[in-house]
Amino acid sequence: MITIHRDKIDQLRSKVKGRIVLPNDPDYDEVRKIWNAMIDRRPALIVQCSEAADVSRALAFARENKLEISVRGAGHNIAGNSLCDDGMVIDFSTMRNVRVDAGKKRAYVQPGATLGDFDKAVQAHGLATPVGINSTTGISGLTLGDGFGWLTRKYGMTVDNLLSAEVITADGRKMKASENENNDLFWALRGGGGNFGVVTQFEFQLHSVGPEVLAGLIVFPFEQAKSVLKQYRDFIASAPDELNVFVVLRQAPPLPFLPENVHGKKVVVLALFYTGNQAAGQKFVESLRSFGNPYGEHVGAMPYVQWQQIFDPLLTPGARNYWKSHNFTELKDGFFDAIIEYTDKLPSPQCELFIALLSGAANRVPTNAMAYGNRDAKFLLNVHGRWDKKANDDTCITWARDLFKATAPYESDGVYINFMTEEEGSRVASAYGSNYDRLKKIKKRYDPENVFHMNQNIAP
Ligand SMILES: Cc1cc2nc3c(=O)[nH]c(=O)nc-3n(C[C@H](O)[C@H](O)[C@H](O)COP(=O)(O)OP(=O)(O)OC[C@H]3O[C@@H](n4cnc5c(N)ncnc54)[C@H](O)[C@@H]3O)c2cc1C
Repeated sequence: MITIHRDKIDQLRSKVKGRIVLPNDPDYDEVRKIWNAMIDRRPALIVQCSEAADVSRALAFARENKLEISVRGAGHNIAGNSLCDDGMVIDFSTMRNVRVDAGKKRAYVQPGATLGDFDKAVQAHGLATPVGINSTTGISGLTLGDGFGWLTRKYGMTVDNLLSAEVITADGRKMKASENENNDLFWALRGGGGNFGVVTQFEFQLHSVGPEVLAGLIVFPFEQAKSVLKQYRDFIASAPDELNVFVVLRQAPPLPFLPENVHGKKVVVLALFYTGNQAAGQKFVESLRSFGNPYGEHVGAMPYVQWQQIFDPLLTPGARNYWKSHNFTELKDGFFDAIIEYTDKLPSPQCELFIALLSGAANRVPTNAMAYGNRDAKFLLNVHGRWDKKANDDTCITWARDLFKATAPYESDGVYINFMTEEEGSRVASAYGSNYDRLKKIKKRYDPENVFHMNQNIAP
């Protein structure tokens, strides 16, 4: 374990406005925790920044003292790169403000904001932009690594709605990146992860949404999986952008609208979201319901903010998690057979597979418009291995890897960078495809020494 001389820490303390947390502080273990309990690292210090200038001061200190640097938004990323061993964590957990200009439909967001912070602030004005489906996820990592959610078909990826960012580069300079200023940096930030600097503010385009939407879950018996999946594929081909439907295969959680004897049984869940006129949306619900004989459903008008938290109870921090992910332009029968086979042997009650639907507006942006270029990806599979005990690591990881292999023949190019684990660095180039060379050049310009390498790294 590295020790930094007390005088040096005192010097840094006198410069930064935020708090510095050290290994002997009583809350050190609490502060260093991240979402994925598989990642357990012990940084030498955690700088809880309270303003953008703290980032420059912290960066200068880390570079002078040759410390490893990791940057943490809300600490949700599966790869755990927001936490380093023996180095400095630049932590944004106390910078969570979201300022809304309702007239201009813009939000100005600090880097520690969670999706819950964001949705609550913008929905106070009946506004939203596409973000993910779990409210404790951080806006920072999600945006820098693309970002998708229920509104993606209608309004694109999160990065498609980013208007500008304030960035501290590796040499401590504060820069603005937008279409009009430093637009190479702006191009790279929209999907290039934390490779190019530390973002201290995001500016987003907002859209009128809700405040109520039509949404909910329809739960079918696992035995009907093949038929439900095939009908889902056909139905989605002509569905409007206002509608999004994800598929989840897992054991039924103890949801109050399901009979008790269904709890724990394998099920196929259609999670649906409709942001258009609700009366018009009902006909889509009827079609989805008719795909089989559901065990039960919970569908209706509800506040958008409430729907954005609906999966939170299944995605709490502290469990062990291992993910594998593919993109797809189409869903073939062989793919359905593979996911059904592996759902049949789920290794823990918390493991699940989900198919997210991207398409719509997300597919109508040119491949080279920004770093995120997987514009032909219509669906995304996430094999979500999740369990509690270390003793089950091997079984659950093997299941996820085997399922990943079994579905590989059906995948399309690219991969969603935010769902990659720490061991998947070799997939980075393919994640960016034809945009990778340009990203390397921009990396060389803004971070030639690869100071920011605790990420899905684009080496300069
Ligand atoms: C339960 C769960 C559900 C999810 N659902 C979705 C979903 O629906 N849609 C979706 O698109 N994604 C989803 N994700 C993936 C999510 O987008 C990524 O995990 C994302 O990286 C989380 O952001 P964070 O700020 O919390 O992560 P962190 O772990 O804090 O950061 C991830 C990385 O981003 C970089 N970084 C963070 N903050 C900054 C900054 N301010 N400046 C520069 N670099 C920075 C660093 O390299 C860091 O290692 C989900 C993740 C989880 C765990």
